[in-house]
Amino acid sequence: MTRITPPRPVDIEALFPALAGFRRTATRLHPRPGGPSAQDSSVAGPMLWPADEPWPVCTAVHPKGTGYRMADVRRARLIDADSQGRDKTDEERQALAGLQRATHAPEIRDEDPVPLLAIAQLWARDIPDLRGPEGYDLLQVFWCPFEAHGPDQSVEVVLKWRRGADTRGTLSEQPEPAVVGRPECVPERCVVHPEQITEHEYIDLLPADLRDAIDAWQEDLLDEGEGEDEDDDPFGIEYGSALSLAPGWKVGGFATWHATDPRPVDCRTCGTPMPPLLTVHHVEWDPASASWAPEEDRRPDLYRHVITPTKVYLGRGYMRIHTCPTNPWHPHQLSFQ
Ligand SMILES: [Zn+2]
Ligand SMILES: [Zn+2]
Repeated sequence: MTRITPPRPVDIEALFPALAGFRRTATRLHPRPGGPSAQDSSVAGPMLWPADEPWPVCTAVHPKGTGYRMADVRRARLIDADSQGRDKTDEERQALAGLQRATHAPEIRDEDPVPLLAIAQLWARDIPDLRGPEGYDLLQVFWCPFEAHGPDQSVEVVLKWRRGADTRGTLSEQPEPAVVGRPECVPERCVVHPEQITEHEYIDLLPADLRDAIDAWQEDLLDEGEGEDEDDDPFGIEYGSALSLAPGWKVGGFATWHATDPRPVDCRTCGTPMPPLLTVHHVEWDPASASWAPEEDRRPDLYRHVITPTKVYLGRGYMRIHTCPTNPWHPHQLSFQ
């Protein structure tokens, strides 16, 4: 089933034509729990991976045996899903209490290599905004599920670009670590429903005169709305949440900097500003950004499947992987909000 984002409540570019210079497309992934094949674009695999090629591993030195068992993460999610809409039974509560953080694998030393987690497999044929090295049409994203890496003390992301036509064979069983740092580092397996949409630059990164004009327009709207029907949603036309940036997992587009001031993300090799390639968001939308909910998902019975389909929560909700537009082989960087 396709997913279609409704038109924005206001055509902001018609009101502010200068915004045309700050427009970019993004492909919303619309991940939903499901059973993709190794040939499909997906979240959490299965990856199209040659059986004779080594699976990527984390070789950084950090504790790898303390955290949550992968099996326990899955068990806890099943119990949560089964008990949706009712109180948990004593048995379920007891089971959940047993699925806790501990040193589950004392035999794994800090320097031992552990398999990375499969995070996403993205085909350019499905995702128009996926732009990689010339001739490479398949991106596989992995991370080490311990927040022990780099200055942000975050997961360690590894990108693998492939030529899809040259990639054969599939592992019967995908390697994965036995223990992870946090359940929220583990994506739920999802099919994706890519949809290209249009975004506009984050407000504080627009030229000052344009930003001020949009701010003034918004303030006028809020003033007009005051005292009227309290069901009127002031977020419904807010530039940041409703008009410029789509929530949820997406490829391309712009980055939000609502939690901090904007921080430049420039390539450390050549200095080129690096746009986000993949945005990982803990929800597909929230009350402020509800206008982005696809028509197909606006059903209360679907809520649990569509709001947090991947179960991933990194940073304060957002993790972005930025790549260099000049040379996609230059090292990527992460940013968080
Ligand atoms: Zn690691
Ligand atoms: Zn570069």
